[in-house]
Formats: sequence, C-alpha cells, structure tokens
Amino acid sequence: MHGALRPASGLARIAETPPVMKASQFFISTLKEAPADAEVVSHKLMMRAGLVKKLGAGIYTYMPMGLRVIRKVEAIVREEMNRAGAVELSMPVIQPAELWQETGRFEKMGPELLRIKDRHERDYVVQPTSEEVVTDIARQEIRSYKQLPKNFYQIQTKFRDERRPRFGLMRGREFTMKDAYSFDRDQDSAKASYQVMAQAYRKIFDRFGLTYRAVAADSGAIGGDLSEEFQVIAATGEDAIVYCPGSDYAANMEKAQALEPQAPRAAAAQALTKTPTPGKSTCADVAELLAVPLQTTVKSLVLATDTRNEAGEVVKTQVWLLLLRGDHDMNEVKVGKLPGLADFRFATVPEIEEHFGSKPGYLGPIGLKKPLKIVADRDVAVMADWICGANEADFHITGVNWARDLPEPDLVADIRNVVAGDASPDGQGVLAIERGIEVGHVFYLGTKYSQAMGATFLDVNGKPQFLEMGCYGIGITRLPAAAIEQNHDERGIIWPDAIAPFTLVLCPIGMDRSEEVKAAAHALYQEFLAAGVDVLLDDRGERPGAMFADWELIGVPHRLVISDRGLKEGQLEYQHRRDTEATKLAVADVVASIRGRLAA
Ligand code: ATP
Ligand code: MG
Repeated sequence: MHGALRPASGLARIAETPPVMKASQFFISTLKEAPADAEVVSHKLMMRAGLVKKLGAGIYTYMPMGLRVIRKVEAIVREEMNRAGAVELSMPVIQPAELWQETGRFEKMGPELLRIKDRHERDYVVQPTSEEVVTDIARQEIRSYKQLPKNFYQIQTKFRDERRPRFGLMRGREFTMKDAYSFDRDQDSAKASYQVMAQAYRKIFDRFGLTYRAVAADSGAIGGDLSEEFQVIAATGEDAIVYCPGSDYAANMEKAQALEPQAPRAAAAQALTKTPTPGKSTCADVAELLAVPLQTTVKSLVLATDTRNEAGEVVKTQVWLLLLRGDHDMNEVKVGKLPGLADFRFATVPEIEEHFGSKPGYLGPIGLKKPLKIVADRDVAVMADWICGANEADFHITGVNWARDLPEPDLVADIRNVVAGDASPDGQGVLAIERGIEVGHVFYLGTKYSQAMGATFLDVNGKPQFLEMGCYGIGITRLPAAAIEQNHDERGIIWPDAIAPFTLVLCPIGMDRSEEVKAAAHALYQEFLAAGVDVLLDDRGERPGAMFADWELIGVPHRLVISDRGLKEGQLEYQHRRDTEATKLAVADVVASIRGRLAA
C-alpha cells in the first residue's frame, strides 16, 4: 500500500549499502529563466524545475523529476480505482477507424481527432478517449447479466489535436488520462456504479492534498444530474465554478441555473423615445452616455438555425433574436437545449441586415424588417422601461415596454450565465463564483455507445438488452500543472506531500570538507530510507544558496540541512517549503520528528 512504512530496522547501520537516490545519480536540470512561450506559472515552473521538456507543440517529455510526480499521481488513482472494484486493462493507442465509424465519431469529431493511415492506406485514429474500443470489448466478452457490473479502466496515452495546445501539460496534445468505463444491466445499477466512481474520485482528490470542488456539470441530452467535474481551485483556472457559500451547491457555469426573478414586471412609466447614441454600439457605452444603470439596457444577439434536406443542402433558415440584460452573458449550452435551437449558429451580417435593416451594434426587437423568433431571458421578460437598439445606426430606444410597445416574446427561458450575487437554486443564499481547472470528470452515458455498436447482454429472462454505461476520466498529466497553479510562491513550486517528486531532501553543507557532515548525511539518508520516507540526498556539492534555490524551485516540501555547526550542537535545521524560517531538530530523534510532520 502507498504510504506503508518499511520497518525501521538496523538497516541504518549498514553505511555502505549503495544509496538509491542521490542527487548525483539522479537527473536535476533547473533553469534561471522560463522559455518565452511559457505563459502561465505552472508551465514556467515546470520548465524551470526541469520536470518536462518540450518536443513540439503540446508534446512533452516527462523528465525524471516530472515523471516521479506523474507516477505518484498514477499510484493514488490506481489504488483507489482498484479499491472501488474497477479492473485495469490497457487498450491500444492506435485504433482502427472502423470502430469509430460505427459510432459516427470518425466523421463527427472534427480535427481534434488525429487520423492516420497505415502502409495499406487503412484509416486509424490515435485514441483521444476509448469508448469505442471498450464497448467493442464488452460486446464480445459480456454475454450475461451474471458478468455485470464491470468497470474497466486504463492509465494511458491520449492524443487530441487541440486547436490551441497551451500552458504546458495543462492542455497538451499528447497527455496521459485515466479513463474508466462501467457496464451495467439497467439504469439503477448504472447509477449505482456512477456513485461508486463519484465517491472514489472524492477519495482520490482528497489524497492529492489539493483544494478542489466537485461540481454538477451538464450531462448533454441525457437528463438527470449524473455528471460531475472535479475542479482544482486556482485563480488562473479556465473554468468558472459557481457555488453557494452557505450550502453544498456547486455547478459549472454551463450548468448553473439562474432562478426565475421573484418580482413581477413593473408597470410602464416612460414613453418610448428614440435617442441618439452616436458611436455607442455596446450596452456599457450606451448606459454610460445616458447615465443609467447597465441593468436597464437589453442586448440583442442574433442566431440562426438551418434546415437541411437529405443531400445536406440548406433548404430553410430560421433567424432568432435573443434578448439579454446588458450586464448578462449568453449561456450557449442553455440556448442549445431550447426547442429548435439545438444546432444554432451566429447569424451572418447579411442575415442580420435582412431582418433588422441595420448593422450590428444598434439592434433591437422593435421595427423589424422581417419577422423572426424572439427569445427573452427570464430577467428581460420582467423588465419595464428598458433600452435597446433602434435598428438604425447611432440610435437607441429608451422607455421600451413589453405588451405596450412590442408583443410578448415567443419564448421566455433561462439563457444566461449566472453572476455572483444571484440567488442559489437551492434557496440557501446567494451564488459566488471562483475559478477552477477541470482535472476529473464522471459521466453517466446510458446506452449511447452500446446502441450504436450493438453491445448487448442477456438479462435474467434470456432477453438481449443494451449495456448501460458510464465513463470516468482523470487528467493524470494535467493534475501536476493544476497542483502548481494552486500551490506556488515567488521561489517556485510547493508540492503537497502525496505527489511531490521527493518528500524530503537532505542538504549537507560542505560535505567535501567535513567527514562528520558526510557521515551524518549518509547515515540519515539510510535511516529515512529504512523508515519508508521518499528521501533524496543532495550530494552534488553545490553551494548552499544554489542548492536551496534548486529545491525551493522544484518544490520538495520538507528539507533538512546538515551542517558542521549544527552537528556540534546535536541539531539539524528543518524547514517546510511553506515555512519562513528553519526549526532546529535534535539529531537523535529527527526521523521520528520528520515522520510526524509528513502527511498521512
Ligand atoms: P477540456 O474541457 O479541458 O478540454 P474535456 O472535457 O475535453 O476537457 P474529457 O474528455 O472529459 O475532457 O477528458 C477527461 C480529462 O482529461 C479532463 O477532465 C482533463 O483533466 C483531461 N484532459 C482533457 N483534455 C486534455 C488535454 N488537452 N491535456 C491534458 N489533459 C486533458
Ligand atoms: Mg477537450
């Protein structure tokens, strides 16, 4: 088991046992400056600390120091997956296109899917994920309900030809993912398997020693709440996470619901007035010019949906006008779920001019040239005396009121992103927003893949049924990057114990000059090894300043300095990477003392 200690035997006495991890035998390569293309702190620090080395865009070598972190992440994941009853296998990285054609993803996935040909001109893909292969295994191997439930997982190389590979391991093209796939006999059992994984993920993320949140995510067409993302909290995260400080409500921005406004629509008080707003094409500019709150403005977004015939030609285009309060943003996932809007796109400028008779920037729902469908956000539907574009360049209309000045909208719906201060959907207070990095995802799939690929089993009555599935990913190589975004300072990385490349570094000072220091360093090194501590002895003979700078950059959490002066007093200097100064520890019980400080 990880963390299990080897017995502290008399091993420490055998001074000449070849030490396993001395810095001189390992590979340490730190840089003063990060390469110019490293934009975020984790990428910079990973490069400077010599954890990874770039080979091409989004393609990195995991250098020895970085690989130790990745192996620790893998070990935690593997152990908890095994505990949760999942079984490990390893599927090919290169997969025949035929399987991907069965689900339609060979065509549908677009350029993120790397397609290659072999010498016979046969098509293959480099796995970006493995639903097809695992479902193919299941349809061949799982015949009876008696073999269910099953959960297969692998920790494997993935390739996604990301449009913008960036931030080092954070969004690579080649990366390592743990992907698991559950198979069940019915929905109830599949949901139970999902819950087992959701719980296992909590254990995994607890063990990493990072601050994280499990947030409800959008589960696509499949209803229910059976999709959660595991987000490592970091100010630099790509994702906005919505949560309620007073309860356990948490969701990602795509999913978080904006409640229906409590107050009814007020009565109209102002007259409809066309107002000059020269050059003011945004709600913010108009509000400033007219000296009114941004919340009194309404922005117009124009979408279009195309109906195609069997040959794929567009036979009809419907244009939609979406109305949002000036301070709100459209939520594309919510919009995509409205009737008729599943495959929406933004309207073209000619389409806009055809319907509004105006260029974008001054659009509104009054005085349209050609009818279209109007969808109002729930907050807009209760507004009175609002401001929108006049469908004429350099003009807006103020004092607009539903029913009096224009018909009620065709549809009123939640189509916006929530903002901090909105009421929490669980009624427990108001929402707050923070940023996170998605490192894990659990997802109930239903029979999407088993139906597409004809993966059935025989139920208790001997009748064939489609397998119920779930899929569960962890970004193994994204995790260290997320950990660094969350835990660093101006000197470098600060690893949590569980995933540090080394837990403890021994820094002897003047080892070449002092026999005492040398002997003590080696003896301590052996003792820590025997105590099961992941220790490294820095025997490179670097000057103290350079040596400390290296380990602070690399981020080893615990450091012991062994010096002549200290030894004369029977003491060593201990410093945690987060401590501002060192603590003196007695040589005699230093091993026990350090072990007491290590995270369980
Ligand atoms: P993202 O929204 O970040 O692109 P995704 O939704 O495409 O992620 P999944 O398909 O759910 O990701 O993959 C499972 C996990 O793999 C993600 O939670 C993430 O941690 C990791 N991952 C996905 N894409 C990359 C990448 N390009 N580089 C590194 N890790 C990745
Ligand atoms: Mg992606």
